[in-house]
Amino acid sequence: MTQTAGLYIHIPFCERKCGYCDFYSITHLELVDAFVDALIQEIQLRGRWGADYRFQTVFLGGGTPSLLLPEQLHRILGGLREQFPILRDAEITIEANPGTLSREKLRAFRQLGINRLSLGAQSLHAAELRFLGRRHTAEEVMHNVSLAREAGFENINLDLMTAFPGQTLDSFRHTLEQAVQLHPAHLSCYTLIFEPGTPFYHRMKTGELPPVPEEKEVQFYQEARRFLEERGYRQYEISNFARDKAYICRHNCIYWNYHPYLGLGPSAHSFDGKQRWANIRSVSSYIQHLKAGRLPVDFQESLTPEQQMFEYIYLHLRLRNGLDLAAFRQRFGMDLTSRYRGTIHRLLSEGLIEPPNGHLKLTDKGWLLADTIATYF
Ligand code: SF4
Repeated sequence: MTQTAGLYIHIPFCERKCGYCDFYSITHLELVDAFVDALIQEIQLRGRWGADYRFQTVFLGGGTPSLLLPEQLHRILGGLREQFPILRDAEITIEANPGTLSREKLRAFRQLGINRLSLGAQSLHAAELRFLGRRHTAEEVMHNVSLAREAGFENINLDLMTAFPGQTLDSFRHTLEQAVQLHPAHLSCYTLIFEPGTPFYHRMKTGELPPVPEEKEVQFYQEARRFLEERGYRQYEISNFARDKAYICRHNCIYWNYHPYLGLGPSAHSFDGKQRWANIRSVSSYIQHLKAGRLPVDFQESLTPEQQMFEYIYLHLRLRNGLDLAAFRQRFGMDLTSRYRGTIHRLLSEGLIEPPNGHLKLTDKGWLLADTIATYF
């Protein structure tokens, strides 16, 4: 039986590293051509992997995929279409940084079949953009959104960041107001995390950047929900809001619904339902492996049924629709509410879940503690 799946392509290049970011990327743009050759080789080596799947999504993430030339993206997408059964109406997303886009580039992206644009705006406040080390201005975000519309993009996402040092509820509201005026189809609001190894983490450890207290983080989160829901954006996942069902990010739903995905490119992760593996991070090693005809896999693990169950629950609880109990029974051959009777009773009595009625769903109070609640299972 064919299964729903997604393709993730990691483009590991940025013009400059942002101090908070721990996604793997390098600034040696002279390696882009060799990387694209290696990626095409990886696509060919992995070709047979797709035989049992129907790929509903392709996500060009990074890094900054919009740094690539349309010809390079043409080779990549052409290679993917040759090797994998990608649905005709697949969602094809490209992540872009404002400032790396032009009218011509956006038109070329549309012609390549890319139908979703995810812009890393982060803030629409000049001082905050400088603090975050972003190269673009708020005006460039606005200009890029209008160029993207002209080029035919309807499905535009803006990534925003919350709870970073110096941000206030007022400045965040200002960003949200400006963002909503652009009428994007989708908004993601992510809390800043001080990831080990990043310059921000180091500055936090030395006391230069004090993290925002948890109560304040919650206020940012609640403000995003209130503000966006009042303006017609439905929160369908903890950090994600869509103006219409049609704009819910299908690719991220592949992850949250625990469907298989194949990740290609340095540091990309893959999952086939039972096993997970990751590619090596270094671009040069990645290129060397593929030149030698070897898959650039760094590690691989088999997940026990208990691990699969935990991850399944953890991911589904992030969704507003929660976890479908019948689908759980079908996948794991057991009734979740019977197996976790004590946990369910405790969560109900603390007002953290709604009474199970076909689905297991967190309450508003539960959503604030989603990660902790998952560990009770
Ligand atoms: S936030 Fe985006 S642009 Fe900045 S370093 Fe990370 S991937 Fe690159």
